[in-house]
Amino acid sequence: MNYTIGIDLGGTNVVAGLVDEEYRLLDKAAVKTQAQLGFDYITDNMAKLTATLLERAGLAKEQVSSIGIGSPGAMDRASGTLIFAGNLDWHNVPLGPAVEKKTGIRTLIANDADCAALGEFVAGAAAEDESMALITIGTGVGSGIVTGGHLFSPAGSCAPELGHVSLVAGGEQCTCGRRGCAEAYLSFSALIRDANRAADADPQSSLARLREKGEALNGKNIFDCAKQGDPAAKALIDRFIGLMGEFFGDVENAFGVRSIVIGGGISKEGDWFCRRVYEAMVPYVFAGERYAPKLRMAQLGNDAGVIGAAALERYL
Ligand SMILES: [Zn+2]
Repeated sequence: MNYTIGIDLGGTNVVAGLVDEEYRLLDKAAVKTQAQLGFDYITDNMAKLTATLLERAGLAKEQVSSIGIGSPGAMDRASGTLIFAGNLDWHNVPLGPAVEKKTGIRTLIANDADCAALGEFVAGAAAEDESMALITIGTGVGSGIVTGGHLFSPAGSCAPELGHVSLVAGGEQCTCGRRGCAEAYLSFSALIRDANRAADADPQSSLARLREKGEALNGKNIFDCAKQGDPAAKALIDRFIGLMGEFFGDVENAFGVRSIVIGGGISKEGDWFCRRVYEAMVPYVFAGERYAPKLRMAQLGNDAGVIGAAALERYL
């Protein structure tokens, strides 16, 4: 049996997992990231987590064919260089080579959203599909695509960044500097912005009353207000779902994937949400409903990034 190790480098935690050939996550270990302590500290911790996993499983390092690291930011995969990773304040650091040197195990790196997509592809919501796109809806809108037996991740590029394709020309300001990106409408940050505007416009709405009670609006309570029938919240969620359908239709028109998996905080909403977004998407799929992708909620949660990183050696 051959094993691989996946490491998810997050802003809060570094999580490492031991994965077998069937992409079963056998064990996990984690430490706080503590980005302020620097590159050597964090790569030392990655080596220590690897050693811990090997020791607990009674494995020699020769039984592990590779380590995959999923990191935020942009990278040059061929050299293993992390070009930048916003939250970590790292620029042009040799992430892959450093971990390879400290562990003696071949090390590959990829974007964390790409790794999450690969995790859902090999072991989660899209395990039965030939191709898929993962769209994560959280503070921002992330994306990863697996097609043609590979992670779609062109060398020397940050693409795909589907959260930053234009959804509403000249629309809301996006965090990236442009206007009208999908992220400026479909992230939780955008939903909360719009819910606060709706509460300002309608002081009788449940949204406004929540605020009066001192509750900050968030994804969950906005959805709850809509489910309880508040007209302002319902209108907001209807528009959110409509735009998501339009966006997913374009993801399909660009990549022709067999399924789109919805990840991030919104995946808790479950089947009703998938059904509504599917209905909103179908009119935008160029080839019609017969070719529309399946829509599914992500299944693996935070483990997707670890499992996908561990699968990198077979899908890059
Ligand atoms: Zn943008």
